[in-house]
Amino acid sequence: SGKFFVGGNWKCNGTKDSITKLVSDLNSAKLESDVDVVVSPPFVYLDMVSSSLTDRIKVSAQNSWIGKGGAFTGEISVEQLKDIGCKWVIHGHSERRHIIGEDDQFIGKKAAYALNEGLGVIACIGELLEEREAGKTFDVCFRQLKAFADVVPSWDNVVIAYEPVWAIGTGKVATPQQAQEVHVAVRIWLKKNVSEEVASKTRIIYGGSVNGSNCGELAKQEDIDGFLVGGASLKGPEFATIVNSVT
Ligand code: 13P
Repeated sequence: SGKFFVGGNWKCNGTKDSITKLVSDLNSAKLESDVDVVVSPPFVYLDMVSSSLTDRIKVSAQNSWIGKGGAFTGEISVEQLKDIGCKWVIHGHSERRHIIGEDDQFIGKKAAYALNEGLGVIACIGELLEEREAGKTFDVCFRQLKAFADVVPSWDNVVIAYEPVWAIGTGKVATPQQAQEVHVAVRIWLKKNVSEEVASKTRIIYGGSVNGSNCGELAKQEDIDGFLVGGASLKGPEFATIVNSVT
């Protein structure tokens, strides 16, 4: 439902040289017109990418501070992101949850602040392998979703990214059926707990070892509305293939 959305999360990768090359590859790539395309460079390159990238592709931050700027060493405010032309921010990514230790409430507050200030939010959810094996996939995803739902002012500028942690950076992509099963459950959760309209309009994208070869089958699933791509988004032509997998 909604326009296909493909995000490239570059994580903590790249140099001035490699990113200049990537931007130039993206600028010359042929991208299907009916897809929202967003890339998320590391903060230090955000301004450079935002000013050199074609308008066709929007720029996202990988994090933002919970409130107005000020005496918060090491943080970047939403106002600063908007100042350099950034349109989106990722919150709830598994690396921030499980490596940095961010909790549901902190993530929710950061997402709510960004939305209130006019950024779009890519809200990530997803279970660990042991949670899946213990049959807790839905419990975990719904708990993370509820933490967003409790605070977001509106769902208009939210894209939900389902990223099972066991599939991230492992080459073990979820099967189209495994992904679809969670996506449809998330949509039903939204219908019950938010509204029918939000359930049908909100894009639910999949992330975790998506590449140029497996994107086609995933994109065919009814409730997969796009992708959040890590490793494969660092290669311009492969990222373009994923963007163009829209069905
Ligand atoms: P990979 O595509 O490298 O598995 O990363 C997925 C991801 O975490 C995107 O946010």
